[in-house]
Amino acid sequence: MIRQSRRAVAFTGAGISTESGIPDFRSPGGLWTKNRPIEFSDFLGRKEMRDEAWRRKFAMEDSFRAAKPGRGHRALAKLLQDGKLSAVITQNIDNLHQVSGIPSAKVIELHGNGSYATCLDCGIRYELDWVKDRFEKSNGSAPDCADCGGPVKSATVSFGQSMPEEPMRQAEIETLAADLFLAIGSSLVVWPAAGFPLRAKRNGARLVILNREPTDLDEIADLVIRDDIGDVLEVFLDS
Ligand code: NAD
Ligand code: ZN
Repeated sequence: MIRQSRRAVAFTGAGISTESGIPDFRSPGGLWTKNRPIEFSDFLGRKEMRDEAWRRKFAMEDSFRAAKPGRGHRALAKLLQDGKLSAVITQNIDNLHQVSGIPSAKVIELHGNGSYATCLDCGIRYELDWVKDRFEKSNGSAPDCADCGGPVKSATVSFGQSMPEEPMRQAEIETLAADLFLAIGSSLVVWPAAGFPLRAKRNGARLVILNREPTDLDEIADLVIRDDIGDVLEVFLDS
């Protein structure tokens, strides 16, 4: 299918990064079995939720910082480099597609990026080290913006927070231009992100789903590969 396609797009979820040591949400032992996610309105409305959000973030941070691209990330980078893939639309926030060598312009991040923070009021960027320093010096209190006093949040999209406009627009363009759509490592239950594979299929593209567990869209896919992502994609590493 990749050989036959004119324009392929990959759509990735947390499953492509488990090989890199970052747990997904919904697998047994995944993040959700430990912590319910913090809704955006709670983050905004309650100081103790902001403290908790940053506590969780820094508890996870070592595994994020140590993570290196896995076989899946590297295979997609190779396909892109060979001109077989036009872009990667990702739900992930771990920056690993960029680290694997895909230019930032070709990585469409639907849920933001967890490797830095921003002020929700004025939009100024803060590095995690800045936040961590203040968090630690204040005994675990979430810092406010040094400029405007607004809440500082990891640059990711929380449940209940609106989707970023520009990435949504780009993802739509890529989805509608694709004749092959590869959904990799996503349970396809998080909306509106899961709408992209559906739209690609309705628009006439072939849909391939690679995931070790069943997904909600398996029924409409042209091919379902229920296997390990790294094992399946590594053939492209030296193709
Ligand atoms: P998900 O946790 O809902 O689903 C991941 C899927 O990947 C599961 O169905 C699991 O069976 C499968 N999987 C895991 N490892 C696999 C492997 N090695 N081979 C094949 N399949 C494998 O993830 P989602 O659909 O991306 O939704 C979770 C949301 O949480 C996303 O929106 C994302 O923003 C966020 N998240 C991101 C990260 C990250 O950036 N790495 C990690 C956890 C959660
Ligand atoms: Zn601010």
